Amino acid sequence: MPEHKPKPVSALLIQEFLPVMKFQDLAESVGPADQPESCAVCLYEFEGGEEIRRLRNCRHIFHRNCLDRWMEHDQKTCPLCRTQFVPEEMKDEFNQRLWAASGVPDLHSEYSHDTVAFDGFLYGGGHY
Ligand SMILES: [Zn+2]
Ligand SMILES: [Zn+2]
Repeated sequence: MPEHKPKPVSALLIQEFLPVMKFQDLAESVGPADQPESCAVCLYEFEGGEEIRRLRNCRHIFHRNCLDRWMEHDQKTCPLCRTQFVPEEMKDEFNQRLWAASGVPDLHSEYSHDTVAFDGFLYGGGHY
């Protein structure tokens, strides 16, 4: 048995879905009023050249490393406001890719992809 747990597949996929950018690039694309000053995970201020991720749903930004570490704990919601990482309109695509990546093609024939079981797996602890 390996000592280290592999990264959750969902975390890897979410990381692909959320764009990485430099803080200075974000600063250029949004107004100064929209710019957060510090990362809610580590509480350090963002520096111009640091890599950050911006969440698609709530637009909060975090250091890339901070968010990646957060996701490796199998978290699927924003550390700040608890909004889900994957927007509703991308959920289907995300689920399909998660299934493909998980190597469980058998499930496809047994369940439709909007089954309760699968929603529970991906969005455990949600409020729906
Ligand atoms: Zn941080
Ligand atoms: Zn948020």
